[in-house]
Amino acid sequence: MSSEQQHFKVSKHKEHLYVIKENISVVHPVYTNDPLNLYLILGSHSALLVDTGCGLFPLKPLVESLIQNRKLIVINTHTHWDHILGNEEFGEVYVHENEAKMISKHYNVSYFKDSPNEIVKIYEEQNFLIPPAKVIKTLKDGDLFTLGEIDVKVLHCPGHSPGSICLLTSKGELFTSDVAYYGDQFLPRLDKFPQVLDTLLKLIKLCKNQGIVEIYPSHRRYPCDKTLLTDLYNGIENIENLWDTKKVFDFFEAWQIDDDKFRYYISKE
Ligand SMILES: [Zn+2]
Repeated sequence: MSSEQQHFKVSKHKEHLYVIKENISVVHPVYTNDPLNLYLILGSHSALLVDTGCGLFPLKPLVESLIQNRKLIVINTHTHWDHILGNEEFGEVYVHENEAKMISKHYNVSYFKDSPNEIVKIYEEQNFLIPPAKVIKTLKDGDLFTLGEIDVKVLHCPGHSPGSICLLTSKGELFTSDVAYYGDQFLPRLDKFPQVLDTLLKLIKLCKNQGIVEIYPSHRRYPCDKTLLTDLYNGIENIENLWDTKKVFDFFEAWQIDDDKFRYYISKE
């Protein structure tokens, strides 16, 4: 089996939905949110790839074998390294307008220089500067992709990052990216928490109004139900009560706080 076949784990979750799982801890053990879930949504004439992963092994040939002759649309849900480093393989990539600059140039992953894992040699060969996609196209809240009998709507969900998006399909599936998942949370500075909570509240209301039952996060388990959103909302709201328990976590330049459901890394900057 080639490294590529061992690295990506593909499963057909539904007739119109593939999940391509990638372990990110192979890059640096500090990342514990395995697996990263890349999603491939298939409509009758087009397919949508949600994120391009760590860029370690070719992803495009795998995606092409799954979509057959459909047209491919590629989206980055936000521009953290594990969601975008495969962009170079694809001619054109969509991202929210707030983060387009981040991925329009080479992406610096020099923070992996001291990783104990051999695999970072793949980045080292590129001087830890990973090339971008040829064309970056911007997204805004409310944009709609029609894949055939499935529509996919873009929801701007700032908080985890300024241009984070979630995707809502006409079949009632909500792809929450890193906005909500069960795993270690990466949060912005404390003064930006109101935005994080506003976004979660928006999603909680959406699930209530539209009767969404399936949530597909970009890390760890899927599908989740809407309890994920309230668990995370309540946890983040309670962080100020746990503030005295915080520890320093240098690698992320963050404060670390734990509760019984989540670990939070809260940015110092
Ligand atoms: Zn992220």
